[in-house]
Amino acid sequence: MTLVTLKPWLLRAQREHFALGAFNANTLEQAQAIVAAAEAERAPAIIQVSHRALSYVGSGDAMLGLRYMSAIGKIAAESVPVPMGLHLDHATEAEVTQAIGLGVTSVMFDGGNLPLDENIRVTQKLVGLAHSVGVSVEAELGEVPCADKTGHVDELTEMTRPDDAAKFVAATGIDVLAIALGSVHAIRQKTVTIDLERLKAIRAAVDIPLVLHGSSGVTDEYIAQGIALGLCKVNVATQLSQAFTLGARAALADADEFDPRNYLGPARNAMKERVRERIRFFGAAGKA
Ligand SMILES: [Zn+2]
Repeated sequence: MTLVTLKPWLLRAQREHFALGAFNANTLEQAQAIVAAAEAERAPAIIQVSHRALSYVGSGDAMLGLRYMSAIGKIAAESVPVPMGLHLDHATEAEVTQAIGLGVTSVMFDGGNLPLDENIRVTQKLVGLAHSVGVSVEAELGEVPCADKTGHVDELTEMTRPDDAAKFVAATGIDVLAIALGSVHAIRQKTVTIDLERLKAIRAAVDIPLVLHGSSGVTDEYIAQGIALGLCKVNVATQLSQAFTLGARAALADADEFDPRNYLGPARNAMKERVRERIRFFGAAGKA
């Protein structure tokens, strides 16, 4: 299908207490793994492209990376009969503006490093632009930190405050809110718990769909409770990188293997299976 606007799907997830998986793609094979998994599970899903993926794909030129990934996302979505969104994650104002013109159907403006007033002003402006062409806008309040290779986090970040969230949503008109509940980007083992009481309070304070970033490190028990309490979009990246790389590494154990198709193919299959498992776990299977 052609890429879909995410808002109606997120609202449905909110009503029916399931979550859409937003799966990160850094390569052609990863985008293919995501749509193949969504098709196999008859599920709506999201191909998610991060700011850092753009830089990688464009060999340092994020705008070039954006053109590549928007074309790949569009073709991948059109190759399957289930609804797929294409989401740009943690992007700058310039990237969001460019993405909207390239047919991306959902954008996240990350103004977390700006003073709150400035963050609200820029977010408001981008919401106006995005809504004029049917693109949904996600923003984050509070900050989900990023771990290093050893799982260590050295930034001090703040969790989302429910009353700030209500003010921010009302002031900006965003469609989807990413919240900081204690999860951390790039954690490799499922050992983290999230603040479910805070989630309940935020859910009571704002009525739009809520997003969990950094889900790979969060225990499944907490993710399931989070979805029951109102998380409607769950971002998955690290777990997919692990599956993809293990698939490639197994094929590369043969020292005579030099054909990229013979290790990227197994990597793609391994990632597809992991995406399918996540789609089922999030309750999205059969919802397309
Ligand atoms: Zn994130």
